[in-house]
Amino acid sequence: MSSSSFDTLVLGAGLVGSSVSFHLSKMQSGTVAVLDADLSGRLSSSELNAGGARATWDQPINVILAKDSIDFFRSHREISAYRDCGYLWMFRKDQWQQGIARAEMIQKKHKIDIHVLSVKEIQEKTPFIDKSDDLEGGTFSPTDGLFNPNTVKNYFREESKKQNVQFLEGHRIKSVSVLNDESIEVECELIPPKNESELKEYYERDPGQPQKSSGETRKIRAKQIVNCTGAWASKIAKLIGYDSPVWAVRRQVSIFDTRGFDFSHYGMMVDPSGVYFHPEATNILGGYADPDEPKGWNLNYDGESFFQEKIWSALYERSTKFEELRHLTGWGGLYEMTPDKTAIIGRVEKFKNVFECHGFSGRGAMQSYAAGRGIAELIATGKYQSIDLNCLNGSRFQKNELVKEGLHI
Ligand SMILES: Cc1cc2nc3c(=O)[nH]c(=O)nc-3n(C[C@H](O)[C@H](O)[C@H](O)COP(=O)(O)OP(=O)(O)OC[C@H]3O[C@@H](n4cnc5c(N)ncnc54)[C@H](O)[C@@H]3O)c2cc1C
Repeated sequence: MSSSSFDTLVLGAGLVGSSVSFHLSKMQSGTVAVLDADLSGRLSSSELNAGGARATWDQPINVILAKDSIDFFRSHREISAYRDCGYLWMFRKDQWQQGIARAEMIQKKHKIDIHVLSVKEIQEKTPFIDKSDDLEGGTFSPTDGLFNPNTVKNYFREESKKQNVQFLEGHRIKSVSVLNDESIEVECELIPPKNESELKEYYERDPGQPQKSSGETRKIRAKQIVNCTGAWASKIAKLIGYDSPVWAVRRQVSIFDTRGFDFSHYGMMVDPSGVYFHPEATNILGGYADPDEPKGWNLNYDGESFFQEKIWSALYERSTKFEELRHLTGWGGLYEMTPDKTAIIGRVEKFKNVFECHGFSGRGAMQSYAAGRGIAELIATGKYQSIDLNCLNGSRFQKNELVKEGLHI
């Protein structure tokens, strides 16, 4: 068994954990390591998301976290490939009043550019929307857009490594002992590289239970740890010794061929059915958050049947161009949800040296930059410097100080 020690140990090397290490290393705040069971992140949400980024939310704190992160993506386009292609939401009659009210609120309260569109204006902007009998109007936010979460995550990691941050591959957290306010011991199973199906089995199981492994373990000491384990954060919280109300739920997306229709210059669109879609190279990526999906760590993709029943059935009703779509592939990934659908960021109340940053409820990629910076500031200086994130502390659920977010897909 090997052992080592660091000032900060980040648990989970997705976009969020990598952002925490990026900011900590920029602040030169002691020695840092980031561990992950699978650094390639094949089944992590950072790998399996849709790459959407928008600052149009109900809650001011969600607007600010997304806006700051998008500003970073925009000023680093060569890394993020950020494209201000906008978000177009379409509404039916029964949804329209709420759609207008939200747009007005976002414009007035957050000073974000968002246009209210009539059906005619939707069709001028997107002429292929030629089945519109059920539409009442739409909203368009031109500065929202799409980016490449993978290249951003790799950038965070590469910059961290330049400052001597260590990324620990094949480290599966097995147990965590908070020894005192200045020392935590994390025991990991060292797992050999796995193929995707082995990895899947493993990600759907409880880390507290024995797993097939090399039998080798490693103990790592740290002054403080940060729980950035995404959809697995409640399991890791339990190992640390606290409860987190975050849960995992599967979200599926399909990739399909448009059979000659060039969709590449459009942005993100949200149909009144809840189906969202955007260009993905020469194809389209379409997703749907099924409200009947049970909670749990299910990473399966239902394939053609998901595409036909959930995606195509809705898009067929929107455009003649969508009548002959062809399913290519797709995947199931995990959202990490909280009761108020806003992230949990801050120090865990029960401990002086345990921090957490997870529960982004479907918007962790677009908030990763600012969220990671917040945690790094808290660790390095004892308080938030750029954005006051105190309202996102996990203790809000006991205090009933919820930050309820409504505008999500
Ligand atoms: C289909 C889909 C579409 C989405 N679309 C968008 C979108 O358009 N825009 C957006 O902003 N967000 C979107 N999201 C959400 C976004 O992907 C997540 O909020 C974000 O990636 C969370 O990042 P993370 O680093 O917290 O988690 P992850 O990327 O999941 O990283 C957590 C890491 O923890 C590691 N880990 C877990 N348990 C252990 C353990 N026991 N030992 C060691 N390591 C462990 C995992 O290996 C993983 O690498 C989407 C998600 C899905 C599934």
